[in-house]
Amino acid sequence: MTLRLHDTATRTVRDFLPHTPGKVGLYLCGATVQAPPHIGHVRSGVSFDILVRWLKVSGMEVTFCRNVTDIDDKILHAAIAEGSPWWAVAERNQRAFTRAYDVLGCLPPDVEPRATGHVPEMITLIRRLIESGHAYAAVGGVYFEVSSYPQYGALSGQRPEHMRASDDIEGESAKRDPRDFALWKGHKPGEPSWETPWGPGRPGWHLECSAMATKYLGETFDIHGGGLDLLFPHHENEVAQSRAAGDGFARYWVHNGLVKLGGEKMSKSLGNSLLVDAMVTQIRPVELRYYLGQAHYRSDIEYSLGALEEAAAAYRRIEGFVVRAAEGAGTATEPTPVTVLPLVSSLPAAFVAALDDDLAVPQALAVVHEAVTEGNTALAAGDHAGAAKQAESVRAMLAVLGLDPLAAPWVTAGDSGLRDVVAALVSVALGQREAARARRDYAAADAIRAQLHAAGIVVEDTPAGPRWELAR
Ligand SMILES: [Zn+2]
Repeated sequence: MTLRLHDTATRTVRDFLPHTPGKVGLYLCGATVQAPPHIGHVRSGVSFDILVRWLKVSGMEVTFCRNVTDIDDKILHAAIAEGSPWWAVAERNQRAFTRAYDVLGCLPPDVEPRATGHVPEMITLIRRLIESGHAYAAVGGVYFEVSSYPQYGALSGQRPEHMRASDDIEGESAKRDPRDFALWKGHKPGEPSWETPWGPGRPGWHLECSAMATKYLGETFDIHGGGLDLLFPHHENEVAQSRAAGDGFARYWVHNGLVKLGGEKMSKSLGNSLLVDAMVTQIRPVELRYYLGQAHYRSDIEYSLGALEEAAAAYRRIEGFVVRAAEGAGTATEPTPVTVLPLVSSLPAAFVAALDDDLAVPQALAVVHEAVTEGNTALAAGDHAGAAKQAESVRAMLAVLGLDPLAAPWVTAGDSGLRDVVAALVSVALGQREAARARRDYAAADAIRAQLHAAGIVVEDTPAGPRWELAR
């Protein structure tokens, strides 16, 4: 393994060495399901999907756990606002998130635990923290005692005296220190609750990730991921809970940058027009994935329609080459309607080096674009074998990024069958057009081209004869 990753805990890019050789446990803070996702919500899904793919291509056996926060203040507020049960709001929005991850081609996690399904694990963790003197029950719930854990603040790089109070308003007067945060929130009328030895209530947000990560990945695991907006207080609190309880917890902390709108983090109200469900009716999902995945995962993306269109055009250039090379090679480049990850040995060394260097996707894409340019030169020279070789390399690289236009989910078995039917029909029409031209009936030839265009097929005359593609 030659991967190096930026670890937020040390603020350095360092060699990635898994706890157990050959195996990687990865926990990603997933969705709080109070609303359907906008593109800001799914960027981490795409970023970490690339990391998971790269770890697998590098020969690692990956266990990928991404949670769902299905109980939380925001979900309860949304439920009251729309007059639905909290669980119906959570269920509906979880489906919207799953749809968004799927439509963007993210591989499903190995396990997707929900907070409300892990209350016994949380109770166990609370008991361990109380017994070891790091937590106390008081009015309004059970709290983590920040002063009992001297390393508090180290992950996010803050000095304890500069830290703001936690936002557990209910427990304000009962807390020993304003920074203490709720592990468990005491029952309030109208809210769902679960029984515990410290009275009925519901989970505090931070506790669930500590309980679920260690349940599925072990008390020490490799990578904890999430958006940079989760670093404080969420991840700081997670690491405090788990380490105070005696768990090793995450060995590397990997954070992705945010999608911003007008210089600000995309909020629910700002992001409404950028809901994934809505966007994929305007732009092909694969182009949206390219847009979200093309920047370095640690940099912020400032959303603009112009940048989105530029990304889409860049992707279409790559895709155009792959499709033309496949046409030129006949059956040599078949669509693969399942996700097949390439062997690392089939990838250009520069591409491998880029991804090994803290997942430098921009540099990796530069290698892809170079290969496309060379492939297009080969095609123009009629060198189909040369073009096919480049196309094979381009497709292998794209598969690592989840962007191979001839692979799932961008094509399905049904699609490739239909494409053959369309190709046969178009060639009949083009044959008639050639015949019309041969007898100098240009009006008829133009009419056939116009009819194809009306049916969504664009014909381009090239020195090698007419070629066609579906209009976008
Ligand atoms: Zn979390």
